[in-house]
Amino acid sequence: MEVVAFASLVRFAGRTRCLERDVLMPEYSLRFKTLDTNLVQAGRPRPHVEGAVVTPIFQSANYEMGEEATYDAVRYIRLSNSPNHLTLQARLAAVESAEAALVTASGMAAISTAILSHVKAGEHLLTQRTLYGGTQSFLHRDASRLGISHTPIDIAAPDGARTWEGALTPQTRLIFVEAISNPLMEVGDLEAVVDFARHHDLVSVIDNTFATPVNFRPVELGFDLVVHSATKYLNGHSDLVAGAVIGSTASVDQVRHLLLHLGGSLDPNTCFLLERGLKTLALRVQRQNETAARLARFLEEQPPVRQVNYPGLASSPSHRYADRLFSGFGGMLSIYLQDAGLAERFLERLTLPIHAASLGGVESLVVRPARSSHLGLEQDERDRLGIGDDLVRVSVGIEDASELIADFEQALAE
Ligand SMILES: *Cc1c(COP(=O)(O)O)cnc(C)c1O
Repeated sequence: MEVVAFASLVRFAGRTRCLERDVLMPEYSLRFKTLDTNLVQAGRPRPHVEGAVVTPIFQSANYEMGEEATYDAVRYIRLSNSPNHLTLQARLAAVESAEAALVTASGMAAISTAILSHVKAGEHLLTQRTLYGGTQSFLHRDASRLGISHTPIDIAAPDGARTWEGALTPQTRLIFVEAISNPLMEVGDLEAVVDFARHHDLVSVIDNTFATPVNFRPVELGFDLVVHSATKYLNGHSDLVAGAVIGSTASVDQVRHLLLHLGGSLDPNTCFLLERGLKTLALRVQRQNETAARLARFLEEQPPVRQVNYPGLASSPSHRYADRLFSGFGGMLSIYLQDAGLAERFLERLTLPIHAASLGGVESLVVRPARSSHLGLEQDERDRLGIGDDLVRVSVGIEDASELIADFEQALAE
């Protein structure tokens, strides 16, 4: 069959250039019913390119012209429309139950471009009080310089001491939250966020990096845009930097137009690696959910540990929201040790996890957020948020759970 089809393509290809391209251009709309299948198969080019089972790397900056009617239709890497982009974007949209997706050069490119494409000078955002350090300093330093202001709110308490209503201004356009916040693993009242955004006509944006679509799909709850640092779980192997923005076709197009000019597009070679990593997301995250839950329960019993932040623990104030919305609680946890000196010695004594920034890979990592992701914040800001030198964050990998827990046990036994 394949041979006959290919022969007829060759015969037709000579007729007109336009026909040659139309016949040879694969399409990427394939979608299945389940997340596990979509992770492996959604959006794969049909027909397969030269029969290749895996999307080959299209390391070509530019492409032959056809009859492109708009600038967007011109094919060029910066326009995020190589076959590697199209496959990956269709796959991510299917996996997050959304219409469309756009991949970007980093998680920060996804976040900054998503925000700037939906808010202009003079306008205002509501944000969760603790966010990823890069997002926080982007808002403080860069967005504010462009005339975009923001007010932090308590995402767990719509009617808290400072109500969400009270933080609104006539210029508020967008609300930005994280599904599980970094580094305190806070899960807010995300249903209330969606209702509040709808009621006040705000664009709701959620960073789903920590939860991953395996545990939570925010578009199904009603969020407008999902952003990811694909550097973390989506790729899962700590060997690339990438991001994604996922949502309705109209919203993602708005982000794509700004990305064309800010220029944070992803290289096809990195698209290929990310597509490869993504295929095992469900397997990895299920294992990481299980091991992190075991480790969190173990750590909760250890006297040198003052507090464990993990939304899967019944003792966590985030548990009631996470339990309603998530199918798993993720592979990230953080602990407060009795003091900063103890935290330092604990990190030195651990032998299995690597002491390194970033997260979401197959290898377990430990880090002090005050010395890494949140080093960009002022000391008093960190103290106010509870991000001190006594806080250690753990990214649980896929190693043997018992061996990992035994290592934590020896490192805590002074
Ligand atoms: C790492 C991270 C980012 C930034 O992503 P990069 O890929 O490093 O640009 C954003 N949000 C969260 C929650 C992250 O962990």
